[in-house]
Amino acid sequence: MAELDPALSRVFSTVLDRNPGEAEFHQAVREVLDTLNPVVARHPEYAEGSIIERLCEPERQIMFRVPWTDDQGNVRINRGFRVEFNSALGPYKGGLRFHPTVNLGIVKFLGFEQIFKNALTGMPIGGGKGGSDFDPKGRSDAEVMRFCQSFMTELYRHIGEYTDVPAGDIGVGGREIGYLFGQYKRITNRYESGVLTGKGIGWGGSLVRTEATGYGTVFFTREMLATRGLSLSGRRVIVSGSGNVAIYAAEKAAQLGAQVVACSDSGGYVVDEAGLDIALLREIKEIRRGRLTDYAAERESATHHAEGSVWDVPAEIALPCATQNELDGSHAKTLVANGVLAIAEGANMPCTPEAVSILAENNVLFAPGKAANAGGVATSALEMQQNASRDRWHFDHTEQRLDQIMVDVHARCAEAAETYDCPGNYVAGANITSFIQVSDAMLALGV
Ligand code: GLU
Repeated sequence: MAELDPALSRVFSTVLDRNPGEAEFHQAVREVLDTLNPVVARHPEYAEGSIIERLCEPERQIMFRVPWTDDQGNVRINRGFRVEFNSALGPYKGGLRFHPTVNLGIVKFLGFEQIFKNALTGMPIGGGKGGSDFDPKGRSDAEVMRFCQSFMTELYRHIGEYTDVPAGDIGVGGREIGYLFGQYKRITNRYESGVLTGKGIGWGGSLVRTEATGYGTVFFTREMLATRGLSLSGRRVIVSGSGNVAIYAAEKAAQLGAQVVACSDSGGYVVDEAGLDIALLREIKEIRRGRLTDYAAERESATHHAEGSVWDVPAEIALPCATQNELDGSHAKTLVANGVLAIAEGANMPCTPEAVSILAENNVLFAPGKAANAGGVATSALEMQQNASRDRWHFDHTEQRLDQIMVDVHARCAEAAETYDCPGNYVAGANITSFIQVSDAMLALGV
C-alpha cells in the first residue's frame, strides 16, 4: 500500500471509524485513496474541502426485513439492502445480489465501486447496489418468486426510473428481474420499464445485456493487449466462475480466436483442452441450473477437479469472473510463474490487493473490475435509453455500441494514467478519471 497524503489518510481513518467491521468496504475505499495522491498533489482543492469524505459516505442506506413463505409453509426472514451511494451523475444505478454472504459492508463496497465504474462508462448514471442474504440455491421457482415479491414490496418505494434503477448481480438473473418487475408493476400500476434493467427481451429488455459484462471484459482485454502489440488470437484463456459473466467472457474470447480451457464453480473447476463447449455450459448452468461435474460427465475432453484452484491451470490470460477476493497473492504468483500476460476482472474486486501488487511487479497487464466489467452496466444504460425512447435496437448495433464504450473506457483509463505519470496503470487511471468526473459534478451541485 502507498503512503497516503495526510488529507487522504484522515478520510481513511474516518471511514474506518464510521464503518466498523466492513472489511470489503475498507478495502475498496483504500484502493481508491491509494491512487489519489498525485491528484491531490496537483489539485489541492480536492484535499482542502471534504469532497473525498463526502464521496465515501453513502447518500442513503436502506435495510429492511424480507419475510416470505417456503414450500413447506414456514415463514422465513431475510434481510434486504439498498445502498444509494452517489447520484451526482444520474439516478443511482447498480445491481442486486442474492447470496448468503451479503451484508451491509459487501453492499457498500459494491456500491462504492459502482460509482466509479458508472462514471467510466460515460453514461449519466450514479452509483448504488443492493441485495439480500437470501440463498436461491436449492430453492424452487415458486419460493424464488415469493421472495422476490416480498423484497420488492419494500424496495418499490425507494426506486424509480429517475431515482434508482436496480439490475441483476450474483443470484439475480432474468427470472428474478421478471418477478421483481412484475411486483413493481402490480403495486404501482405503472409499466415503468426504466425502473429495472436486465429485463427479458420480450418485455422491455435489451439485446446484448445478458452477454454484455463478459463481452465487455474481453473487449477491454483486447484493447489492453493491443497496447503491447498483442492479440487474443491463439491465446490460452482461463476464467473463474460459470455464471453469466464467465460464460459470455468465454464465448467472446473464443470468438476472437482464443482457446478457453477452464472455468469453475463452488464445487471445483473443469479443464477442457478442446476448448469449453459454450452451448453445453449454457445448457447446464442456465437451463438445468446444474453443476460443472455434469459438464465433465458429459464431455469427453473435460476433467473435473474438486481440489486446488482454477488459477493453477497454465494460461496467458486469466479472467476472474466469480466473486470478490477469489484470486490471492499465492494464486497471482502461480499465474506469473506460468507466464500470464494479462488479467481482467470480470467480477467486482476478485483480486486481493496483494495479488494486484504481485501482478504489477511482474509487469502483467491488469484491468480492475470497475473498468473491465463496466460493459454490463453500460448496456443497462443502453436498455434505459431504449425504454425511454420506446425503441428496440438490433443485436449488432447494440454490440457495436458496447464495443465502442469499452474502447472509450480503456482510452480514458490509459489517458489518465499517462497524465498522472503512471502509464499502463489501469487501476490508477480508472480511479483518477472517474474521481475527477464525480467530484467535479458534486462540487457543481453544491453541498
Ligand atoms: N451488477 C452489475 C455490475 O456489477 C450490473 C449493474 C447494472 O447493470 O446496473 O456492474
